[in-house]
Amino acid sequence: MAVFAGMRNTGTSQATRRALLSLGGLMLLSACAAHAEVPPPAPTRNTPTLVPGDSHPSPLPFSDPADAVRVGKQEFYVHSGPQAIALTIDDGPHPEWTPQVLELLRRYGITATFCQVGAQVSAYPALVRAVAAEGHLIANHTWDHADLARASAATVRSQLERTSDEIEKVSGHRPTLYRAPYGAWSEQTLATCRQLDMRLLDWSVDPRDWSRPGTSRIIERIMTHTRTGSIILEHDGGGDRSQTVAALRVVLPRLLDAGYRFVTP
Ligand SMILES: [Zn+2]
Repeated sequence: MAVFAGMRNTGTSQATRRALLSLGGLMLLSACAAHAEVPPPAPTRNTPTLVPGDSHPSPLPFSDPADAVRVGKQEFYVHSGPQAIALTIDDGPHPEWTPQVLELLRRYGITATFCQVGAQVSAYPALVRAVAAEGHLIANHTWDHADLARASAATVRSQLERTSDEIEKVSGHRPTLYRAPYGAWSEQTLATCRQLDMRLLDWSVDPRDWSRPGTSRIIERIMTHTRTGSIILEHDGGGDRSQTVAALRVVLPRLLDAGYRFVTP
């Protein structure tokens, strides 16, 4: 069901790609140097680079969110100790793909963060409850996957509050994390998150699974770019995610074998 087909259009987000930050209790969790529209360097086939524990993330370069927004792109990470990484799964819940992802996470004892879209939450509340019941974290990903880079304060606030209201109504937990669709951050979204006491969540490893590049490409990109602190972006909604599920089936045990620990932001 391609509810969000075409949502990864280029153009708007490239110019609006922004960093994440921490200020006054807002902890900047990540921002990605490789924007969704810019393919990462082609990984060398069959030579994944695994360096768990030897690549600790640098301190955040900005103390003020506005500075990060002006500068644009920076990489941010989870700061949870050696070999800690975070798996984030966006655009669901979806009746076909979410249960398959949940089954894999259950099989390997992995806890992930699901960045859910309010309209999907409303349509599939049982899936939301299943995600929460298995101990995963649920983040706010707007009501309808809107690009809020140039949206008004009222629109941004409405998108975030309506979605948090729905997630809380369905799961019993109000999300404290916000992930911007398309990575489209703006000073307005930062200000609104501050007002709503929400932390920002971005990513640092984007295998572009949403573009369906082939399961092997998704695997290579994750295994090549993951380091201690990496926040990996995957999707369980917005289109056919069979390649994503197939890739997770391979990379989850490989990452565990390499010594990584999965944490939530
Ligand atoms: Zn998304």
